[in-house]
Amino acid sequence: MSKFDIKDILANYDKNNLTIATVCSHSSLQIFNGAKKEGFNTIGIAVGEKRKFYDAFPLAKPDEFIIVDNYKEIFSLTDELAEKNSIIIPHGSFVEYLGPKNFLNLELPTFGNRNVLMWESDRNKEREWLEGSNLTMPMEIKNPKDIDIPVIVKYHGAKGGKGFFIAKTYEEFKQRIDKNKSFTIQEFVLGTRYYLHYFYSPIRENAYKLSKGSLQLLSMDRRDETTIDEVQRLGSIQELEEIGIHPTFVVTGNIPIVIRESLLPKVFSMGERVVEKSLKLFGGIIGSFCLETVVTETLDFKVFEISARIVAGTNPYASGSPYSEYIQNNLSTGRRIAQEIKFAAKHDILHEILS
Ligand code: AMP
Repeated sequence: MSKFDIKDILANYDKNNLTIATVCSHSSLQIFNGAKKEGFNTIGIAVGEKRKFYDAFPLAKPDEFIIVDNYKEIFSLTDELAEKNSIIIPHGSFVEYLGPKNFLNLELPTFGNRNVLMWESDRNKEREWLEGSNLTMPMEIKNPKDIDIPVIVKYHGAKGGKGFFIAKTYEEFKQRIDKNKSFTIQEFVLGTRYYLHYFYSPIRENAYKLSKGSLQLLSMDRRDETTIDEVQRLGSIQELEEIGIHPTFVVTGNIPIVIRESLLPKVFSMGERVVEKSLKLFGGIIGSFCLETVVTETLDFKVFEISARIVAGTNPYASGSPYSEYIQNNLSTGRRIAQEIKFAAKHDILHEILS
């Protein structure tokens, strides 16, 4: 959908009575809680009855629910949502359940720049963007026969690390690979993982300044992944592999974390370069995004993935993080998104942060 269409839809919106809407999953508690703190109406789009669950969290319960049988039904609700001046906040599950192509066609104002999808969902384009930003990514191994270091094999489109496996030799690779799926082979980077949560505003100048707008670091987390993170309770990985038990990377939760303070300038520099490149490539990665990194023992960052919207790793910080605390008390990513929308509505520049 073009900016022109968005402006058309926004022209009919009552800017003093906006609604923040999202799908009830992933980071929705935080998004609703943040929106309420900033005085917005809230709508939760739920597949199946979910009211009872949200009753347990009154401060994160949307004012209104729209219950659907499946996510595609959202397309028949666009008029109703537009009448309520709804702005959609996409999160990982939202885009996944709807499908990236369908998401692109959703005719409702959506927080962030939807053009990012084609750069994020295609691994080759993602590499072009990140390496073009002078970030170091894990080395890619094109031919499995060349495996002579530990590698991680990733299936395309697999979410949450599903099916990924580690191989140290071509033989191991052959034993484990599912030839019916397309895959990428990456060097397995040894080090500690940090998932860095940024917020880029093209319309505010009150943070780390970029050529246009400014950048914040709101928090960081580490993912809890089963069974790789706990497998050693049972024995060494080698022992277990011998009896056919292989570690997996399915995300089950998120752990709050901070990084050595001396690494923060590098963290900002990486975020800066990714945003500046995105401005040139597709008009900018707007709002929250996350760089998934490994810090090596030489204190270098290797970036293995980017997520271009709010990540579930921000959920430990509903009432702020050790970083957002230096910006404002009680500032979650969900609340920061609501603030950005509020500021843009006030200055009549919503089209600059929505697509
Ligand atoms: P991804 O779907 O790319 O986020 O990968 C899922 C998980 O696999 C990550 O959260 C990491 O724990 C791990 N991982 C991914 N890429 C690498 C890499 N190149 N080296 C080491 N671990 C990785």
